[in-house]
Amino acid sequence: MGEETSKIMFRTERYVLTAIFLLSLMKDSGVRAENIIRVDAMVGYEDTALELAFKETMNKAQQSLLYGNKNLKIEDFFSRVNLEDSYEVSGEVCKVISFGSEVIFGTHSRSSSEYVTSLCNQLSIPNLQIHWDSREVVTSTKRPDRDHMTLNLYPDHHTLSAAQRDLIKFWDWKKFAVLYEDNDGLIRLQSILKLSFKGRVAITTRKINFLNPESVKNVLKDLKNTEHQRIIVDCHYDRVHDILKEAAETEALSEYFHYHFMTLDLGVTDISEFSEYGANITALRLVNPEHGAVKNLTEEWKQLQFNIRGNRSPLRKGQLQIPTETALMHDAVWVLTEAALALNEANPTALASYSRASCDKAAPWEFGADLLGYMKSVNVDGLSGTIQFGQYGQRENFELEVVKFSHEFKKVQKIGTWNSLSFLNITDDNESLSQLNKTLKVLTVLEMPYAGKKIDEYGNVKYEGFCIDILDYIAESMKFKYEIQEEPTYGNCDEKECTGMYQKLIDREADLAVAGITITSAREKFVDFTKPFWNLGITILFRKPKAKPVRLFSFLDPFHEDVWVYMIAIYLCVSFMFFVIARLTPYEWCNPYPCNQEEDIVENQFSVLNSMWLTIGSILQQGCELAPRTVSTRMVAGVWWFFTLIIISSYTANLAAFLTAGRMQSPIESAEDLSKQTDIKYGTLQTGSTYSFFQNSIFPIYQRMFTFMKNQNPPVFVKNSNEGEKRVLQGDYAYFAESTTVEYKVERNCDLTQIGNWLNSVGYGIALPKGSPYKDKISQRILYLQDKQVIKQLYSKWWTKMYINQTCDNEKKDPSNALSIQNLGGVFVVLVGGIGVSIVIAVFEFIYYAWTKRDIPDPICTQLKDELIFALRCWGSSSKPADHVIRASKSDLSRTGVSLPSLNHEYANAIRDIHA
Ligand code: GLU
Repeated sequence: MGEETSKIMFRTERYVLTAIFLLSLMKDSGVRAENIIRVDAMVGYEDTALELAFKETMNKAQQSLLYGNKNLKIEDFFSRVNLEDSYEVSGEVCKVISFGSEVIFGTHSRSSSEYVTSLCNQLSIPNLQIHWDSREVVTSTKRPDRDHMTLNLYPDHHTLSAAQRDLIKFWDWKKFAVLYEDNDGLIRLQSILKLSFKGRVAITTRKINFLNPESVKNVLKDLKNTEHQRIIVDCHYDRVHDILKEAAETEALSEYFHYHFMTLDLGVTDISEFSEYGANITALRLVNPEHGAVKNLTEEWKQLQFNIRGNRSPLRKGQLQIPTETALMHDAVWVLTEAALALNEANPTALASYSRASCDKAAPWEFGADLLGYMKSVNVDGLSGTIQFGQYGQRENFELEVVKFSHEFKKVQKIGTWNSLSFLNITDDNESLSQLNKTLKVLTVLEMPYAGKKIDEYGNVKYEGFCIDILDYIAESMKFKYEIQEEPTYGNCDEKECTGMYQKLIDREADLAVAGITITSAREKFVDFTKPFWNLGITILFRKPKAKPVRLFSFLDPFHEDVWVYMIAIYLCVSFMFFVIARLTPYEWCNPYPCNQEEDIVENQFSVLNSMWLTIGSILQQGCELAPRTVSTRMVAGVWWFFTLIIISSYTANLAAFLTAGRMQSPIESAEDLSKQTDIKYGTLQTGSTYSFFQNSIFPIYQRMFTFMKNQNPPVFVKNSNEGEKRVLQGDYAYFAESTTVEYKVERNCDLTQIGNWLNSVGYGIALPKGSPYKDKISQRILYLQDKQVIKQLYSKWWTKMYINQTCDNEKKDPSNALSIQNLGGVFVVLVGGIGVSIVIAVFEFIYYAWTKRDIPDPICTQLKDELIFALRCWGSSSKPADHVIRASKSDLSRTGVSLPSLNHEYANAIRDIHA
């Protein structure tokens, strides 16, 4: 048995030696049995995955050549070398070249790859790289000959860095931290770090040993304490999980944090366990695991993990997808295969003999440049997308995907793309918050109509109000739950610190503050605000002025009592003067019977009564049948008429205004009015934006008012708007509040009114902790609700419909309308009174007349009664003989229906007596 074995071994040895001898003979002669291309990969001792990927892909390439009958074979070899030892690497490269190697893959160590590339360069051996390379891409202006035999499938670091910078710019980060491990990391971060040069971006950089969990934890703690929530991490993808774990332990993985990883392999390790933490985790990637070919190969390589060869799969256990470098190794093999095929087709003799290149003789391979040319021009659709190279061997026209860890699907998902032509395009950054499985803590101040509390019929506490309705809409569309925490006051922020709700937001004790919160610049420094959902301004809540009691004789109001007295006096004076002047002037004495020129009696029409009649007629704008005849009397009449014109015009002009406007006179009409007096006190909410408005105002008037308010005792600042309302109703107090609150109160209490215009213009918004991930999403919802006019509807619901049990007539009416009977009652009284007085006078006239006629048969009362009956017989005659003013006897009345006493001659006598 032993002899047999040693025989076989001897025979095998002989065959091998013969083969080697024949091969060396062929090599020496330079002739190959068939067209072959020899490929050598230089891999590190640790790079098993790359080695396996190389082998697996080479197998496939060889099979495809075989089955495709292409008259070409690929011989693949790999050398495990210490990549940091450039001597060993260059020795190995020379060795494989002397064996006839025509293409070298690798290496990725900075020190050794320089040797490899320069050797390949000298010997015209194409060199394929698949690793990130910190060296400059060669352009025509810079050393165009350098590395001209090298192709790198890994995107060059400048382009990558620019893509990362574009992303940071897109997110508009103004303050963030950068964690890196080595100098390569710094090079990768270069263009991001340059963002701070312009001074608007604050970047904290920390070099860190990611293998040491304690130091990671300490740095994260530090960053958390210094309010760094945006962190860029440059680390190997193997460390991603551990860093996130440390972040979770330091409570730096909530939704307020954003980790952006510089690696292109974020999805390779499983980080699904961090889905409940909510932090934003993003990166760029080159290989899309959803792509058909990638998916299939991933599956295939996953299967390899379970076959008899044990872990002989390019995909390590626990890796969810193919890492970039492994995928690039795969792509590089296909680039080579395609290029070799093209070369073989174009020049069948090129690969028919060994390359004859040698380090010793510095002899280049004559077809090396041709093969490289084909490599640059092939168009391979690889795992890393379409592979194209630029003139200097750099990867061109590739596309990177922006990816984000989806808390909902617990995996990394694409949210956008970046390419060198169209740059960044974020398509979907709106992950629903529903899967956060988190109930947001919402702070609110219980103040209607913004937020209120009620107990429903089952005894459950319910919150309601304008802001709560808006919050419900937002929560529903964003699918999150919330839990309300009540706050006693709004609070405020000054230069250094905040109080109330804002401090709680800063301390991350709550996620949102939803109430009638005014967006102010002081608050904005400490917390974030969504877009405003309602606009308003500061105005004054005041007690409605008490209506003056309506006076019956309010028509007398346009003139002061003195004026009325003077007018009566002047009326009497002028009438008397008229009487006197008319008597003085001879031209007012006239013949009463002009047809009888013989008449020796002259008459003056201006008796005292007639003078008074003329003057009263003109003052009441009626005139009378009497007309002055001479210059003197006309003069008096003229000036009197002028006087009455002015007086009556003034009276008419004032009358309407006095009858109406006089009813609602308010002692103040504006903030200026308030500032000019001290009787009416005024104040604001103790802690709120209105207080800050006065406190920080640059206008002297508001500064003065603030000083006045501060110096009042008892204090004029109130704890809430209800207290403000109460003080207003007690009187002599004006409450400065926001127009929304004022409108709400005025609508519900008819004794209240709004005074003056808005002193400023501000908006209500939802407050969030700085850097909150909900800000943009909630803002979008607010804009949507505004577009759909939902917020307007809610406003009208809460201001004009809910909890309103009376309607106040708050409209300001035109003073000239609305004169009521109360205003004009006095005029009626005068009319009725005047008629009454005239009846009395008529009776007295009758009595006087009858009394002077002593021969009347009946007693005066009987006469008066008869005359009254006669007067009231409306259908009776309206005429009677001029000389029968009072009837002579009852028999006359029964006969004619009129009284006919003969008085004519007595009347003539009486006139004569007067003139005498
Ligand atoms: N809306 C105000 C704030 O946010 C409170 C009311 C006020 O100051 O009048 O502080």
